[in-house]
Amino acid sequence: MTSPSQIIEKKRDGHELKRDEIRDFIQGVTSGEVADYQASAFLMAVYFKGMTITETIALTEAMVESGERYDLSGVSGPKVDKHSTGGVGDKVSLILAPLAAACGLKVPMMSGRGLGHSGGTLDKLESITGFDVRLDRARFEHVLKTVGCAMIGQSASIVPADRKLYALRDVTGTVECIPLITASILSKKIAEGAQGLVLDVKVGSGAFMKSKDQARKLAKSCIAVSKKMGLKTRAVLTDMSQPLGCAVGNSLEVIESIEILRNSKASDSKGGAETCSSDLKELTIQLCAHMIELGGLTKNSVEARKLAHARLADGSAWKIFKQLVESQGGSADQIESPQSKLPKTTRTVTWKAKKRGYIARIETAEIGRILVELGGGRKRAEDAVDPRVGLVFHRKLGARVVSGDAIVTVHLPDKAPAGGTPEVLWGALEARFQAAIEISSSRKPVPRLIFEVIG
Ligand code: URA
Repeated sequence: MTSPSQIIEKKRDGHELKRDEIRDFIQGVTSGEVADYQASAFLMAVYFKGMTITETIALTEAMVESGERYDLSGVSGPKVDKHSTGGVGDKVSLILAPLAAACGLKVPMMSGRGLGHSGGTLDKLESITGFDVRLDRARFEHVLKTVGCAMIGQSASIVPADRKLYALRDVTGTVECIPLITASILSKKIAEGAQGLVLDVKVGSGAFMKSKDQARKLAKSCIAVSKKMGLKTRAVLTDMSQPLGCAVGNSLEVIESIEILRNSKASDSKGGAETCSSDLKELTIQLCAHMIELGGLTKNSVEARKLAHARLADGSAWKIFKQLVESQGGSADQIESPQSKLPKTTRTVTWKAKKRGYIARIETAEIGRILVELGGGRKRAEDAVDPRVGLVFHRKLGARVVSGDAIVTVHLPDKAPAGGTPEVLWGALEARFQAAIEISSSRKPVPRLIFEVIG
């Protein structure tokens, strides 16, 4: 048997690892036989030397084998999930899971918490009082069968190797690595029992993949590995050069999602603040159509899109969202009256345009970091998040503004997370908004919402 240090050296020197070597190493990570410093060195070696597709397949298999694998054969219907590589204001899952279920799919969705500047579905769901994301296997299966979708976090028994490696990657500068991301995402999807996966690969200033080229490489890696492992996967490269929708912040994002599910004002009215949600609605419908196609529910993409549109418009998705919240212990009262009953701060301040022009650039990762400063995300894994704080965009890329026009309303905490008053916190953040949102005299083209579909 090759020792952990020999495996690290082999990868450090750029050689291809054998399947058994990868399996033994990952088994050692899970059991604790491989020390954290050895696992970290291995991750850094993979970061610099990469992995072949054969090695990435072996890594994914080994990670799946590190824990429990759900068998969802007792749940009827095609089981298709969606995963996003992470963004700012990306609350698609909250709308998409019930919408896809309303279209006839089963959606076993296992999500994560916020990571760095990017938000996490679990944190958003937990803005709803009582919503339990820690269902055991039997309850997960029951909710999936009865509601059509279930939304949970990664339990201790599912891919424990990823929990360990992910925590190490987060603190060792090894998150942005294609084979490691591929194995991390796919191992969880395979273990949760999905048969199909739509992967939303984010590209742009708020994404981990900053260029289309990198995003394409990640998509191709995921598709090649999925194919070998029997998971039907399609990757959609989508824009993250500005926040998705209007809201950034956990409870505010739930409110925006509910407005779309209910077809109420934010998603439909024209002009000003309201149109900021139209990209969110459009992307959700497009991703749902891809899920429907993967699940084989319609003959073609036109029908799939029509079906997704219809189930959102006729209120079926909203009905399923309410059932989901109730089945997972969440407050029905809050979601019926989101504006008044979901957590919200009482202090808001609006950041306004200082000159006439067009919004030309948004430093989206910085917007995510500002949310963290407000207490809406974590600096360390053990930090609590304040669901109430956040930002609501009234205008986004391409919008014409004159001096004094509202661009973002900031929902401040009662107390700054690091101590001090909200006013002091706002004083410190104002200059960061100024640098993060560029207003130019000429209108620059706004990136397309969907760049490419692969697979
Ligand atoms: N999402 C994951 O689950 N893993 C990664 O490595 C990146 C995004």
